[in-house]
Amino acid sequence: MAEETIFSKIIRREIPADILYQDELVTAFRDIAPQAPTHILIIPNHLIATANDVKASDEKALGRMMTVAAKLADEAGIADDGYRLIMNCNKHGGQEVYHIHMHLLGGKPLGPMLS
Ligand code: ADP
Repeated sequence: MAEETIFSKIIRREIPADILYQDELVTAFRDIAPQAPTHILIIPNHLIATANDVKASDEKALGRMMTVAAKLADEAGIADDGYRLIMNCNKHGGQEVYHIHMHLLGGKPLGPMLS
């Protein structure tokens, strides 16, 4: 059983976060250390530690993460210029928080993907 992270506390609103969207499946909030003018994290409400742990039963929540990303990109006014969706997995992917999260980054040209 995976250990809860700080993101579970954000979902339950036990610690402060700038939550932009929440429903029965997913939560989206502003990244505390933004890497771009728009930097939002979109996460499933139930704990999935890494992309390796995704099961067929998670597909509804993962699909919702995509539709919420598109909605929030539109609301942020970055849909037409474009943006980047990133999910880091484990050490080589640079994952720091072991509750899967989609980074929505935009608001400026983001340059080459790997650096
Ligand atoms: P990385 O830090 O290398 O991007 P992750 O992909 O695991 O690794 O991303 C974790 C993200 O969570 C980071 O962008 C970090 O700034 C963000 N973060 C950590 N704690 C909080 C928090 N309390 N509220 C909002 N964002 C947070």
